[in-house]
Order: sequence, then C-alpha cells, then structure tokens
Amino acid sequence: MYSGGHAGRDRRVDVRNYLSPLAEAREIAPKGFGSFAVTPIPMGTIVATFGGTIVNRINFETYPLEQRSRSIQIDVDQFVLGPELREPGDSINHSCLPNCGMRNATQLIAMGPIAVGEELTYDYATSDTSDYDEFECACGSDNCRGRVSSNDWKLLDLQTRYRQIFSPYVQRKIRASQLVRFLTKRDAEDLVNNYDADPQQALVRALRIVTGMPNASWRSLVAQVSPDLEHREFLYGADQSSLDKLAQHLNEQRSI
Ligand SMILES: [Zn+2]
Repeated sequence: MYSGGHAGRDRRVDVRNYLSPLAEAREIAPKGFGSFAVTPIPMGTIVATFGGTIVNRINFETYPLEQRSRSIQIDVDQFVLGPELREPGDSINHSCLPNCGMRNATQLIAMGPIAVGEELTYDYATSDTSDYDEFECACGSDNCRGRVSSNDWKLLDLQTRYRQIFSPYVQRKIRASQLVRFLTKRDAEDLVNNYDADPQQALVRALRIVTGMPNASWRSLVAQVSPDLEHREFLYGADQSSLDKLAQHLNEQRSI
C-alpha cells in the first residue's frame, strides 16, 4: 500500500525503516556505521527492513550521495531511497561473506545464527545492480572480491551461493540470463561461419537454439538473454561490438 502518490511523482513506501531489537546500529571508526547483534539472533530472523521513498532512476540520481548510499534497489528502475536523516535500519554494511540475505525486495533475514557482537552484513550484489554504490571492498573475508560492482550478480559462484537470497528482481534478471541449453560444437561452427555475412541473422539462429524459442523474433530473443536494459538497446540497434560480444559469449558457452 502506498499513500499520497501521484503518477510520475515519488511515492512514500508504507513500510518503515526497521532494525530488529536484537541488534543495534553503532558508529564505527574512523567514519561509518554498522549494525551489531546485542543478543543471539536465531537463523531466519528478520533483522532489518529498508524504508523510505520509492523513486525511479532519474529522480534517484538527483539526491545527495550520502542519502543514496543509504538506499536499496528494488527493481530494474526503482529504488527505496533512505530518509534524509540516518535511521537504525540504514546501517547494514556489505560483506563478501555475509550472515544476512534478502528475504524479499526490502527485508533482510539472518542466514544462520548470529552471535552477540557480530556485525550484521549482507552482500550488496544480492540487491543492487546499478552503479551508484560501487566501491573497493575491505570486508576482510577469505573470499573478498576486492571490488564490489553492479555486475557482481552475473558471477556464477554468487548465483550458486546466494540462490535463495537474491532480491526478487535480481532473481528475474538471473533467470533471464540463463540459457536453457548450450550450442553444440556444430551449432557454434554454424554461428562462426555465417556470422560475417549477417551477424544478426546468425545470432537469431543461435539464440533460438539456446533459448528453446524456435520462432522468436530478434527483439524477444534479446529481451530473453539480455536483462540489462542498456545492453539490450545496443543489441536492438545492432551495435557491432555488442553483437560481437554476444556471439563470443555464445561460442564460449558451447557444450563440448
Ligand atoms: Zn569483500
């Protein structure tokens, strides 16, 4: 339920920012905030809810960086922008080895028991696929990626590890990006052999095979395999380097 909204304007989310009473937000030196368990937190506990205003991408980019850093992406073109002043539920840091995950677009749950004093963390790749919050990571975990980027959801090991805890819209992006089957060696050879004469037509043939959509048009095939809107526009426009990258991807993914 939203209230006070008019088409085209920002809408107030009906969910308030929430941090479980089992945790508290603290300032951590030298500069920043984090949330820590103050009593043992059982697995499956809802530890935090992101609240604020739903804004689209264009409006989102007009807000100050600090406020945007306390936001969460909830759909391809929608963000929940944190309130003007920091609230306790705003202070969950990223870790490449997190103890919390997304239960839905705005709620975080404990993925296992969390001990007193332990910091609550989640992997920003499970919610954010836009580049407003990319950074060098200093989480210190053994599998730290070093840099957290908006494309991390594409990493296969993350897709496997976080299967149940991606935000619903990221799960949709992942499903769209997964091909139902791979090209055989023969299909891949056909793609390469026919590519120079008509790249788009050669790709249509290959994509119909990998998507299992034998009659699909170029536009529906691109929509199926390219969840990234910007990339999709390049492919719709038959941008040569985007076509080349897609062909290379299909070729690399072929079965042996
Ligand atoms: Zn890290």
